[in-house]
Amino acid sequence: MSIATARVGSNIAFIKYWGVADATLNIPLSNSISMTLADAHTTTTVAWDNTGTLDGDVFVLDGNTQSPARSQRLTRHLDILRGLAGVTWRAWVTSQNNFPTASGIASSASGFAALTVAGSAALGLDLSNSRLSAIARRSSGSASRSLFGGFVEWEQGTSDADSVARPLYGPEHWDLRDVVAIVSGEEKKLSSADGHLLAKSSPLLAGRIDHVAGWLAETRTAIAQREIHRLGPIIELDALAMHSVMMTSNPSLLYWQPGTLEILQAVRAWREDDGLAVYFTIDAGPNVHLICEAERATEVETRLAGLRSVERIISSPPGPGPQLLDEHLI
Ligand code: ADP
Repeated sequence: MSIATARVGSNIAFIKYWGVADATLNIPLSNSISMTLADAHTTTTVAWDNTGTLDGDVFVLDGNTQSPARSQRLTRHLDILRGLAGVTWRAWVTSQNNFPTASGIASSASGFAALTVAGSAALGLDLSNSRLSAIARRSSGSASRSLFGGFVEWEQGTSDADSVARPLYGPEHWDLRDVVAIVSGEEKKLSSADGHLLAKSSPLLAGRIDHVAGWLAETRTAIAQREIHRLGPIIELDALAMHSVMMTSNPSLLYWQPGTLEILQAVRAWREDDGLAVYFTIDAGPNVHLICEAERATEVETRLAGLRSVERIISSPPGPGPQLLDEHLI
């Protein structure tokens, strides 16, 4: 049995990935920029069965054995790794997310990045992080960004080989916090993978894509200069632009809940009335990510805890790239 375990941080996108130019390869419609998270991560063990005992892959996620239907996406991803190694072995995969799965905290990103890193290491494949980024992208676009720590840009590219992420700055560059306000840990009804396919039905998609190059440039500068008041307005604008595309697609995707809006209003009031330097962004889910510098994080957490709709708070600094661990989950 060849076994390996990887821990990979999830990431929060400052400029989002929404919509695909090529749905099979997950080539996006634009670049995107994110921060990899230290304290919202996935740990995955992959053990390849070279004895022929298994007739299918076995996937245990957060302690629950997944049905064949819920393991399909994982099996398709393992097929890519099997193809690269030239084997037909099946695998035991055990994975744990230390945050709610499928609720807008990018479990698919850290999940497929960890699967790629552990699965390829257990097969003895010696692949660069850039190559691993391309492989992870095939099953979850945002997973391509979790192959690097710190601040990361996924280059749109035009092919399987060049649509990959690259690091902009390491985690030590800027001590930001992503304070995630969880209003619901429930699984969303429509996965992001299915949502991407609807983007082109929105009349607002073209408007967002037209503006995104400028927003990317502004975000790179804001990160380079560590300017929260430059970064913040752009991330709020792009989050609202992405959700406008989602809401106006056919069928319409409305991820927000009343609690989501309560937090958005609160963040703006804290900023405008009290001068608290905090901005929001929202991924494909109802939960809100509050971005601030480390010195403001305790104040932001205390204020969030006082809001009726906040069930739980996860606060994370920028984190490292993937790590291989000696202790396995199996
Ligand atoms: P999220 O906002 O959490 O990324 P998505 O709908 O994009 O939600 O992705 C959730 C899907 O990602 C799950 O249904 C599952 O297929 C996959 N996933 C989540 N966590 C893992 C994991 N640890 N390992 C493998 N796949 C995972």
